[in-house]
Amino acid sequence: MIGARAVVQGAGATRTCPHCRATILESAIVCPGCRHHLRFDKDAKPGGAVATHTAWQIEGTIDAERTDSTSEYSILVTVRNERNEEIARQIINVGALQGVERRTFSLSIEMSDPKTPVPPPRRR
Ligand SMILES: [Zn+2]
Repeated sequence: MIGARAVVQGAGATRTCPHCRATILESAIVCPGCRHHLRFDKDAKPGGAVATHTAWQIEGTIDAERTDSTSEYSILVTVRNERNEEIARQIINVGALQGVERRTFSLSIEMSDPKTPVPPPRRR
């Protein structure tokens, strides 16, 4: 079995969203951060975006540790590559909770094909 994979030129290229200034994929039609439309692509499917799917998602809730005092929190996301090297580290939000206050966070990873490569012709 040959393990050759089609390499898409420019895959992973980034740009800055003109609306929210987040770093996003060049291929994005809709900013995943602020959900503004960025361009109208003739190849886009009706309804908006390139085919994306949520590869992974978690959701959790943090409460104040005690109802009679204040707790501070930092929500930190780190990304490591296949060699376990940290390639990104970002604090998403900080704040304080007291009493019955709580925060619910969700983290999702969206995957897409920037341009689907043409598959090799099938042998008959
Ligand atoms: Zn944006």
